[in-house]
Amino acid sequence: MSAAPDYIEPTVGWRTWLVVPEDEVFRLRSIVYDTLWSPHNELVAHCLHHAMRLPWRKHSEHVSPGRNCGCGIYAAREPEEAASYLDGRSWADGLSVHRVIGTVSLWGRVVECTRGWRGSRAYPKKIYVPPTRAPFWLRAERVEEIALALTDYDVPVELLDAESGDPKEFVAALHR
Ligand SMILES: [Zn+2]
Repeated sequence: MSAAPDYIEPTVGWRTWLVVPEDEVFRLRSIVYDTLWSPHNELVAHCLHHAMRLPWRKHSEHVSPGRNCGCGIYAAREPEEAASYLDGRSWADGLSVHRVIGTVSLWGRVVECTRGWRGSRAYPKKIYVPPTRAPFWLRAERVEEIALALTDYDVPVELLDAESGDPKEFVAALHR
């Protein structure tokens, strides 16, 4: 039994994604988990927490997102929250060529959390590609090529005109 309501209209929040090369194309990848977002396919949440910790405990399985679990596909309420990840570092940066920010639709089971929502199903709604920044995580690919490649998702892709790498700058550019 679940106390979480099922929303019919998608909830729209903000996310930051890694852009990774995948068989000659570029794909969006989650920053925290090893999850690839496929064009034209909704992303479906699974509880990775219990799968990692207690694979033998069948009763710990639940529908994702669990209310008392951190699982599900995250979306932030405010672009500022998502933009803070544009500046982050993770082990997966070695795989990625860029980080992009955008809006994401969540539907199915959607649980509200402190800074946004966790949903059971998700798909990007709009993708913003920031300019080239730190060479540590951005290899040679040009942002225009990345933006063009991301049109595979069939959602609007826009180059973000921001002067510096400061997340505040990105948010200001989003509002322009
Ligand atoms: Zn869970």
